[in-house]
Amino acid sequence: MRGPELSPPTIAVGAGRPARRPGAPLNAPLTLATAFVPGDGNDYSRQANPNWLPFEEVLGALEGGRALAFSSGMAATTAVLDLVPVGATVVAPEHAYAGTLDLLQQRARRKLLELRLVDLTDTAAVLADADGAALLWMESPTNPMLDVADVATIAKQAARRGTAVAVDNTFATPLRQKPLELGADFVIHSASKLISGHSDVLLGAVVTNQDRGYRAVEKRRTSMGSTPGALECWLATRGLRTLHVRLDRAETNAREITARLEKLSGVSGVRYPGWGTIVSFEVDKGAKAAQKATEKSDIIAYATSLGGVESTWERRRRHPLEPKPVPENLVRLSVGIEDVEDLWADVERSLTTV
Ligand SMILES: *Cc1c(COP(=O)(O)O)cnc(C)c1O
Repeated sequence: MRGPELSPPTIAVGAGRPARRPGAPLNAPLTLATAFVPGDGNDYSRQANPNWLPFEEVLGALEGGRALAFSSGMAATTAVLDLVPVGATVVAPEHAYAGTLDLLQQRARRKLLELRLVDLTDTAAVLADADGAALLWMESPTNPMLDVADVATIAKQAARRGTAVAVDNTFATPLRQKPLELGADFVIHSASKLISGHSDVLLGAVVTNQDRGYRAVEKRRTSMGSTPGALECWLATRGLRTLHVRLDRAETNAREITARLEKLSGVSGVRYPGWGTIVSFEVDKGAKAAQKATEKSDIIAYATSLGGVESTWERRRRHPLEPKPVPENLVRLSVGIEDVEDLWADVERSLTTV
């Protein structure tokens, strides 16, 4: 399939399919084999696997780079952090995905890197702190505070100063933000979320448009063995086929629910960037009430994770690793593709009866 001139929905549906020959399947078949007949470079499944390729092709085409699939978002994150020279400085958001911050802090404690935490919404402060840093790690919007960074301005300035820029694009997906076009060097995904979309796959990816970076990240994957399973890639490829439709629908729901939450008494600090499928808000009666409300919903599942067709919510600080700047009474709602009136009735009933 021809690439960049096609629009994202057409790429999402059509890329990464087998050549159209008589009798060929429309979908790449699931190949359960660890070893392959030698002769074309890769003969072992830790180096390459036919089921990784369609997923990498579709995601790479959508992001405008080359993708490498990993066993999870954290495995993808680890591979990029491994490129940082020992002792070099890494700049990261003060609140972002808790697992990423924990990994950075573990490495800082072992003196593998020096960590500077910044407010991503303060572009001047980010750039000042990034001076001399080896890597600037961004997440935009951030999980769960939904801060949005000026990725284009920051990435351009950082590139001039020789700082590599990585953007965790999990919340935006390539359909709402293309960091490589904005000047980033690496895009990281937890494909366990919106990309797979059905809460049944753990998978990650790194996308880059730089040959050296690509080879270095690929080498990390082979050496660490942080390789994805064949079935996971197959399912995530199927997820990508409907990403644009799910995202549009969930986003429409999220916008409506945000507008209504802003008027609901007992709720404040509603956070929503104006796009995307995640809404965060604070319950005025406090952490206990927030916890109770999320546990008593009918339609919305009380569960962690996000980006599935089904709505989920949770009080983020129930996780011990969640960074302290996240308020105790903050609820993160991942809006799904259910009927919005049914969803709202559930939100309103759960929040107003605690
Ligand atoms: C879930 C998540 C991750 C981690 O991904 P896993 O697939 O769970 O390893 C990283 N970044 C963000 C923004 C996430 O939401």
